[in-house]
Amino acid sequence: MSENLRSWIEVREESDFPIQNLPYGVFSDAQGTRCGVAIGDVVFDLARAEAVGLFKNTGLANGTFGTPSLNRFLNHARGVWSNVRAHLIETLAEGNTEGQAFCESHDLIVREPVAMRMPVDIGDYVDFYSSEQHATNVGKMFRPDGEPLLPNWKHLPVGYHGRSGTVVVSGTPIARPRGQRRGTNGPTFGPSEKLDIELEVGFVTGTGPQLGTAIGVDEAEHHIFGMCLVNDWSARDIQAWEYVPLGPFLGKSFATSISPWIVPLEALEPFRVPAHEQDPQPLPYLRGSDSRGVAIDLRVDLTPSGSANATRVTETSFTNMYWTMAQQLTHATVNGATVRAGDLFASGTVSGPTPDEFGSLLERSWNGTKPIEVDGGTRTFLEDGDTVTISGRCQANGRVPIGFGVCEGTVTP
Ligand code: CA
Repeated sequence: MSENLRSWIEVREESDFPIQNLPYGVFSDAQGTRCGVAIGDVVFDLARAEAVGLFKNTGLANGTFGTPSLNRFLNHARGVWSNVRAHLIETLAEGNTEGQAFCESHDLIVREPVAMRMPVDIGDYVDFYSSEQHATNVGKMFRPDGEPLLPNWKHLPVGYHGRSGTVVVSGTPIARPRGQRRGTNGPTFGPSEKLDIELEVGFVTGTGPQLGTAIGVDEAEHHIFGMCLVNDWSARDIQAWEYVPLGPFLGKSFATSISPWIVPLEALEPFRVPAHEQDPQPLPYLRGSDSRGVAIDLRVDLTPSGSANATRVTETSFTNMYWTMAQQLTHATVNGATVRAGDLFASGTVSGPTPDEFGSLLERSWNGTKPIEVDGGTRTFLEDGDTVTISGRCQANGRVPIGFGVCEGTVTP
């Protein structure tokens, strides 16, 4: 796509959603719930566009976008994703007066405010642990006498299967979880006293091969549709008591927030970068011939209860990740496990090398020992009424920047 391409729809310069982006989501208005694409401050109505024949000859099956999830679209081959995107770009491009007239006569542009819904009916949810800095920080805090990284960490992307049913869309209130915590005279029970965030980025898949067939590392990205922001809310006190020997359970499963717009991998192409160096070299099945990461600038803002002023808590980059998305998906299927359209794979907490780049309050406050200044007070972990906003934006020389919108949530008692 030409880099100076613009749309006949007005897009503010600082918008996350220029014509170069065109992320997919699910929205509701008085006409119902259906799929759409964000451009500037408006939504392009995919359901109505499909109904009036805009996508004929793209290979799209009938009734794909009139549904309250992107799953039917994700179920298509990658070539159809590309065809639909190419059609959208052509239709919305500045100078296409015919396209503009078509959209306007069929009322395809939704300019009124809409409510965003879960974009995907998530099948399986996997959460990785792929930032070396995060894994090292956690190791130092919880195993001060041992090596910070466990022996497996540089040989495989460590992960676990999470709870897809509690993945919620940005804006959903997050109820403080209750559970067991370690006490001095046996466990105690009550609301978590160490409610935390995890700054993550996720990818959503299309279909995979049949059960028993692994996805090769060089084909892995063919199965990835796009990416979103993730906040993997975590109750550190519940987690610390329950996690041995089987890993995270109730300290994680109460809620995971995702941003409502899924940015297609194609839109991220200008922001791809060489992957993080890996030493030692991983086993052959994890060695890609073209191993790439994505340069996404990530931010976490905390607006304390009762305040209107957000404090920037974290600013880091997705280029810090040690394992690539391709390696994660390859590893997750190397045993023959299936991937379905609408599965979500989250990166694990993204932490950079300095404290102001750490992607959780656990690390930022060093397990509560170093309070963080916020408007009107300090924080170690989250208090009721606190709002956490994650945002992400991609920038590169000579390229129109694109963004992910926000992934936000407010803690309720
Ligand atoms: Ca996580």
